[in-house]
Amino acid sequence: MLNSKDIRKDFPMLDGKTLMHGKPLIYFDNGATTLKPQCVIDAVCEYLSSYSGNAHRGDYDLSHQVDVAYEEAREVVQHFIHAKRKEEVVFTSGATDSLNLIANGYAKTHLKAGDEILLNVAEHASNTLPWFDVAEETGAVVKYIELDEEGRMTLENVKKAVTENTKIISLAIVTNVLGYEVPIKEITEYAHSKGIIVVADGAQSVPHIVTDVVRDDVDFLAFSGHKMCGPTGVGVLYGKYELLEETKPTRFGGGSNSRYNSCGLVTLKEPPYKFEAGTPHIEGVIGLGAAVKYLQSIGMENIRKRELELRHYAIEKMSQLDNVTVYNPNSEGAIAFNIKDVFAQDAASLFNTYGIAVRAGEHCAKILDEFLKVRTTCRVSFYFYNTEEEIDQFIEACKKGDDFLDAFFG
Ligand code: PMP
Repeated sequence: MLNSKDIRKDFPMLDGKTLMHGKPLIYFDNGATTLKPQCVIDAVCEYLSSYSGNAHRGDYDLSHQVDVAYEEAREVVQHFIHAKRKEEVVFTSGATDSLNLIANGYAKTHLKAGDEILLNVAEHASNTLPWFDVAEETGAVVKYIELDEEGRMTLENVKKAVTENTKIISLAIVTNVLGYEVPIKEITEYAHSKGIIVVADGAQSVPHIVTDVVRDDVDFLAFSGHKMCGPTGVGVLYGKYELLEETKPTRFGGGSNSRYNSCGLVTLKEPPYKFEAGTPHIEGVIGLGAAVKYLQSIGMENIRKRELELRHYAIEKMSQLDNVTVYNPNSEGAIAFNIKDVFAQDAASLFNTYGIAVRAGEHCAKILDEFLKVRTTCRVSFYFYNTEEEIDQFIEACKKGDDFLDAFFG
């Protein structure tokens, strides 16, 4: 059982003294990034202040200490996502970087004209634009799996979209606006029976639910540290080892090769090191390791349960308000909504005056409006440190939706 009061003490920004617009911060934009617990801040500061050296470079004690911390973080992530080997964990700068690495390093060398890549319209730009680029360069075609009336991805619709030309299906396990969890295990089982590679965007799932890459049998998985209590600028690409072996690095340089000569003959290191050219984001990786340990200390099942409780509580209250439209009452993730007759960004400015951070706009899912039939929405996304009391204050602010002009002139 998770005790919000105790948990909140771990986060300096939830001390009640962090103000927004003069009010104690209510942070409901966890889909964008999460707050950081003290233990992560300490892990980063400790590296910077007491053992700041390069990784995989030196033959002295300090350098060894950095190597140990860096590789320990890799093992921590490996166990967190239940990967078979630590070598299947590549550190990147985030989910976007990981998805681009798969698109550029794997898809561009494996796809040819006429091959099909399946996405859906709820995907984030970071899981759409790299595939447009693959299509442009290889002649492959991007197609979309239809969502059901609610906006859910179903195995049936995946089956309908697959053709003999389908080579890659790339899906967010949980999408960032509609927040539905896809039946990833069923999808990979079906896809593999047809020889299709499944890329999972875990940016909105890994921070919230138990991730098991072996159970779900995903071929690649991308996620970001900053959406799971870790630092910005660090993320992970998981890949099945044999697929990482077939993936070409997209950056070349120090640390990724074991030898090269003046004729341009290069012997690259084995995965994951061939992908990690240059000095990595060492404090980021160490901070991510600390973040994962922190989440494990709370327990991913507890986190999931608590977030569903909060979501349920908010939906109950929001559905009682005549001036609020919720677009995804039955999903598992973020809540997408609008206040009647109020432009989403104006509503976000109104919430701001109450110290409440919500996201508004197209949420980097710019083709979703074709499905939702509204251009922009507001989005609240909870994390386990949010509380019912905060939701009550948010509901009171929703009721004042008609006064949104006060946000500008009040
Ligand atoms: N995919 C999804 C579903 C996301 O929500 C995000 C971030 N909003 C990303 C990918 C990209 O993550 P990042 O900006 O950390 O690379």
